[in-house]
Amino acid sequence: MRRKLAAGNWKMNGTGASLSEAMALAAAHPDPQVDILLCPPATLIDRMADAVHGSRLAVGGQDCHAAASGAHTGDISAAMLADAGASYVILGHSERRTDHAETDAAVRAKAEAVLAEGLVAVVCVGETDAQRDAGQTLAVVGAQIKGSLPDAGVTGQSVVVAYEPVWAIGTGRVPTLDQIAEVHDFMRAELVARFGDAAHGIRLLYGGSVKPSNAAEIFATSNVDGALVGGASLTAADFSAIIAAL
Ligand code: PGA
Repeated sequence: MRRKLAAGNWKMNGTGASLSEAMALAAAHPDPQVDILLCPPATLIDRMADAVHGSRLAVGGQDCHAAASGAHTGDISAAMLADAGASYVILGHSERRTDHAETDAAVRAKAEAVLAEGLVAVVCVGETDAQRDAGQTLAVVGAQIKGSLPDAGVTGQSVVVAYEPVWAIGTGRVPTLDQIAEVHDFMRAELVARFGDAAHGIRLLYGGSVKPSNAAEIFATSNVDGALVGGASLTAADFSAIIAAL
């Protein structure tokens, strides 16, 4: 069975003062039945990993460069994230695809670097409002999965896929449970067709306006193995309530 995963994406939020939320979260879940991950901004990874050391909380990055090292001002490699204490890396979030023009090919190259470093890649996919209205949701998600995942090394241990409809991120709008199930069942089928039985072990997260109030019904939906949570992961109280619903 797939172990559920509650992943928090702090995005460009948090300073040293916010580490108390991570410590409170770790303290609230000394022996969790699910995997718990927080992805703070890069400036906090090292300190957060230290702050929650010895707990069951995993720490991750929100992006990395595909190269191992070199002349890439402002960028961070997967090896550097691992060195700082990260064990997961979010890749291809829609905000990066939009703000930094990241293509599927770029996300795939980053995923290869993450897997080579022995970290878990959390690869994000999802359609825009216009694409859903045009009936292109499954085609878009299918193409993103095809283009963003490496051919080699993809297993239930190495890769997580997050379905995040762009129109649901930070908006309070959530797809219906039927819409979530349709996409998650489709993603599972696509992954199994490409990677075989190993793909049954890949966790599929839903992301986009997950809150304590809607988490339980989303988690009960077909092929939903957890959540990628933005805003509601910033406080230990809200994120704990979501974890409790898993
Ligand atoms: P949200 O963000 O939970 O604030 O909607 C989700 C995400 O972007 O991962």
